[in-house]
Amino acid sequence: MKTPNSRPVVLCMSGHDPSGGAGLQADIEALLAQGCHAAPTVTALTVQDTVDVSDFRVLDRDWVLAQARAVIADVPIAAVKLGMLGSVEMVDTVLEVMSLLPGVPLVCDPVLRAGGGGALGKDEVGYALRERLFAVSSIATPNLPEARILAELPDGTADECAAKLLPYIENLLITGGHGDEAEVHNRLYCRDGSRHDFTCPRLPGSYHGSGCTLASTLAGRLALGEELVSAVRTALDYTWRTLRDAESPGHGQYIPRRLPLDFCP
Ligand code: PLP
Repeated sequence: MKTPNSRPVVLCMSGHDPSGGAGLQADIEALLAQGCHAAPTVTALTVQDTVDVSDFRVLDRDWVLAQARAVIADVPIAAVKLGMLGSVEMVDTVLEVMSLLPGVPLVCDPVLRAGGGGALGKDEVGYALRERLFAVSSIATPNLPEARILAELPDGTADECAAKLLPYIENLLITGGHGDEAEVHNRLYCRDGSRHDFTCPRLPGSYHGSGCTLASTLAGRLALGEELVSAVRTALDYTWRTLRDAESPGHGQYIPRRLPLDFCP
């Protein structure tokens, strides 16, 4: 039964990571922590551990559409979060889904590589995102290596990539976690010309699922009605804390701790 205090629902269209660090599990955990409900539509299955990805399979378009349509027909969607799409065809599938959700905020995490470096889609998927999905997105959240691929500027700075990408999208958050400066510089560029810099101390180690955590938290904050710049700040702060408290269950990267240990007493 629908209750008046039902949490905002965020439709997540992402891949499944069997290590549980990234993908839909990251989305679900981060959204739970925001007080939102995640509705996970699977776009792709991956074979990976905390070290790297070895294979992936993109689901049939009909299956993805059927999953999303079933949820959209049933519950009000307050925001959409995109993660791994895996193919150019999936970009068009998402466009079809978004045509059913006019005006709903869309956060696009342009996933092209796993944290360990393995490919989760060809660069062409990134170009299709830029050409077709950015126009219906509220914000995209690439890290600097992803922004360089999307902007086709292999050595570009964040500012140069943003100048190339902003004509395609309203707001762009380029994260700096992959650099080597003492502080991480996360830069939000808005089409209205405003720019906001958020810095945080760099943490040691490398993390699996940090981008998923950030983008889904941001979608959750928008679903709760938080204004964009504030939502970006909240999402960056939360993500930093999940990395500070990360755990290392396997032989590879750290996994963000997205929920408190005493979540279920
Ligand atoms: N989505 C899926 C399904 C993945 O498997 C991964 C990484 O392995 C990602 C997204 C991206 O992860 P990250 O948040 O570390 O960039």
